[in-house]
Amino acid sequence: MGNHFFICSIYAIIKMVMIMEEKVSINISARHVHLTKEAHAKLFDHDLTVRNPLNQIGQFAANETVTVKTDKGVFENVRIIGPLRSYNQVEISMTDARKLGIKPPVRKSGHLDGAETVTISTPKGEITEACSIIADRHVHMNPDKAKELGVVDDEVLKLAISGEKSGVIDVKAKVSDDGYYEVHLDTDDANAFLINPGDIGTLSK
Ligand SMILES: [Zn+2]
Repeated sequence: MGNHFFICSIYAIIKMVMIMEEKVSINISARHVHLTKEAHAKLFDHDLTVRNPLNQIGQFAANETVTVKTDKGVFENVRIIGPLRSYNQVEISMTDARKLGIKPPVRKSGHLDGAETVTISTPKGEITEACSIIADRHVHMNPDKAKELGVVDDEVLKLAISGEKSGVIDVKAKVSDDGYYEVHLDTDDANAFLINPGDIGTLSK
């Protein structure tokens, strides 16, 4: 009886520790653009073509790029991430934002309230829209993984990063059916912690 209780307790503690500390691969999102079907039609004569698939299922970096500009600054050759979406979105770092003279809000993808206005252009055409954000730090996972970790969508977790510039930062769980388990940081966060794509962090509650 006592032994059984003891073993169960040990098992519960081990399980808790396992759930509370989980290794995760970190990927870095450079500045990029998502386009709607309408915006794409204004900017290109042909469909997006796949340069390379991303870890997130169905997502790809396109061969096609655009110019992103404001009256203060410009970035050429900004990669489009496909497939086309129901919203236009320009995701940049704060360092990028300074060069463009804008102050985008930190947002979850698709949440564009307060987004900054930028112009997206190609040789074919251009659109100007309030669609620029700084992406929030997030960790993708599918519902099975979320269940395993005891995590719900939008829950704030801790990511510990080791190395010469180590630290612990907040990341938000992003649970979706096609979610591939990995953290996405922008280039400012990655550079601050000397992170390279594929580095491993430790996730905890
Ligand atoms: Zn992501």
